[in-house]
Amino acid sequence: MIIVMKARATENEINAVAKKIESLGLKPHLSKGVERTIIGAIGDERLIKQEQFEIIAGVENVIPILKPYKLVSKEFKSEPSIIKVHGVEIGGKEIVVMAGPCAVETEDQLINTAIKVKESGAKILRGGAFKPRTDPYAFQGLGEIGLKLLAKARDITGLAIVTEVMDTSEVEMVAEYSDILQIGARNMQNFKLLKKVGQTRRPVLLKRGLAATLKEFLMSAEYIMSEGNFDVILCERGIRTFVEYSRNTLDLNIVPVVKQLTHLPIIVDPSHGTGRYDLVEPMSKAAIAAGADGLMIEVHINPAEAVSDADQTLRPEKFDELMNNLRPLVNVMGRTL
Ligand code: PEP
Ligand code: MN
Repeated sequence: MIIVMKARATENEINAVAKKIESLGLKPHLSKGVERTIIGAIGDERLIKQEQFEIIAGVENVIPILKPYKLVSKEFKSEPSIIKVHGVEIGGKEIVVMAGPCAVETEDQLINTAIKVKESGAKILRGGAFKPRTDPYAFQGLGEIGLKLLAKARDITGLAIVTEVMDTSEVEMVAEYSDILQIGARNMQNFKLLKKVGQTRRPVLLKRGLAATLKEFLMSAEYIMSEGNFDVILCERGIRTFVEYSRNTLDLNIVPVVKQLTHLPIIVDPSHGTGRYDLVEPMSKAAIAAGADGLMIEVHINPAEAVSDADQTLRPEKFDELMNNLRPLVNVMGRTL
């Protein structure tokens, strides 16, 4: 439920509404605009009644949000959210490109890749230190050593860092090193993990689950936001379908639908979405045309030697070419790169 205060509502009146919400077992969320304050009542709406708030002094309007996702919805916030991280704005005019290797492997591999992607115009460095692998005997990531290397790459290049956190016990550690916490597709419905990252003040990149519906995806974002962290970036990374020629089917329909229903930024990962390096460029273009706010692309200094996802990984030269080929389209879309 959203409680819209009158333009001239006093601090006391605003506090009275917040207290009432708390007394009913929900959490108040205040958005102070230039004109008026809007208060969200976060929690189980069955505990409250619209009329209880309509009679409080200073209240102009009470709007029930019918959708199951509330904080995520456009009804809660009509303006698009812009997530600011390390001098970069995600969800604004710029198409923000996050690039880097699938996994952090060695210092040379990471730093050299980071320098290259930065030169080509990427703003955020990606790289997994904790890797969710299907095969328990496959490389699982360097863990904290990998996080330290990412932080070093940030020092050298000035790029912000995004890296995956897989377990609640590691959230604090990853948040110490990384600018953005990535929740991988396999953990999209790990609700304890979602709550835990929701308690940090680091932006969260939430990847769509392997077979998640739109509603499930948005409800997972709601989990994070319900803990007070409103800096959520959605990421479409392909879903499982019957097609066999690509690793996943990149569901670009979801980009304009997310824009219709929510105020959150959405980026697209054509590397995992296709599993094929030759499809990364066409699907990057398609993602931008569909209205995505950014891209996540796997780049490795030497893809042939990549320990994971070699087939979908670009060489730095190919990434540079891709960035140049995207620029005319980005301009047509009224965005910048
Ligand atoms: C990744 O981006 O490193 C990754 C593992 O992707 P996903 O969770 O989308 O499979
Ligand atoms: Mn990968």
